[in-house]
Amino acid sequence: MKLYMSIKSVLFTISGICLSVLLLMGVSLYHQINDVSYYSDIIQYLARIGQDVLVRHTIAELLLDALILFTICRNSWRIYKQWFLTRKWRQYFSQRIHWEKTYLYNRKYRRWNTEIVIIRDPTFVAITMGLLQPKIILSTGALELLNQSEQRAVILHEVYHCQGKDTLKHFLIYLVEYGLMYIPVIKQLAEYYRARTEILADRFSIDQTGASSGLSSALLKVLRTQNNGQLAKVGINFTESAINYRIMQLLDLDNPVRIPVKVHWKPMVYSILVMLSILLVVTVNCTT
Ligand SMILES: [Zn+2]
Repeated sequence: MKLYMSIKSVLFTISGICLSVLLLMGVSLYHQINDVSYYSDIIQYLARIGQDVLVRHTIAELLLDALILFTICRNSWRIYKQWFLTRKWRQYFSQRIHWEKTYLYNRKYRRWNTEIVIIRDPTFVAITMGLLQPKIILSTGALELLNQSEQRAVILHEVYHCQGKDTLKHFLIYLVEYGLMYIPVIKQLAEYYRARTEILADRFSIDQTGASSGLSSALLKVLRTQNNGQLAKVGINFTESAINYRIMQLLDLDNPVRIPVKVHWKPMVYSILVMLSILLVVTVNCTT
C-alpha cells in the first residue's frame, strides 16, 4: 500500500507513536513503583519492588517489563555507539584539517553562516556532522573530483542539512526506529522522512545555485566513486539515500517528486497488535 503524506504528518505520526508507547511504559513503571511503599534504604526499596514485580505481577506485565528493559538497553547502546563513533571520526578529521582551504571555503561561503571543514583525504567525503552544532566536512578528494559549480551544489545541499538541524532530527528518528523496532511501521515512516529530506536539500541547492546541472553532474560523479559507508552512521552523507527520487527530481524539475510511504500490511498489522497489547496490559494492570 502506498500512502502520500506530507513530511509534517510523517513526523507527527512518528512522534505520536513514540510518545504513546513511552507514556504507556511510564504509566506501567509508575504503577509498579507505587505498589510498594517508600522505604528509606534504597537497596531494600529496590529489592522490595523487584520482589513485588516477580511475585504479584502477571506474565503479561512481566513481558511488558522485559520490553521496557529491552527498549532502554537498546537505546542506551545506540546512544553510546553514536557518541563513540562521533568521537572517533572527530579525532580522525581533526588530525587532517587543511587549514588554508578551510579558511578559504569558509570565506567563500560565509553568507550561509555554516562552518565548513576541509580535511586531507583522497576519498570522497561530503557529510554533515554534529548533532547540536552541525558542520560540513569535505575532503580534498571531493574537491578534486568536483568542479566549482558541482562543489557549490554539494555544499549548498549540505548547508540545508545544517540549517535544518537534520543531523539531530535524523538521529532522534533513528533512535525511535531502533529502540521501538517491535513497531515496524516506524521504519517505513523513517525511510520516507530521510528520502524527503534529501529531496528538499537538493531542491534548496538547485534554487540557490539557479541550475540543476552542478548537482546532477556531482551526483553522477559521486555515485561512481567509493563512499566510506561507516561515515553514514555519524552524520548525513551526500549520497546517503533516495538516489532514485533525487534523479527523478533532477530529470523533471517542474513536477515535484511524490514519494510514497510504502506501508506493507504485515508490519502495519503487527505494529497495531503490539501497541494494542501494551495498552491492554497497562489498562488491565493499572485499573485492578
Ligand atoms: Zn543529503
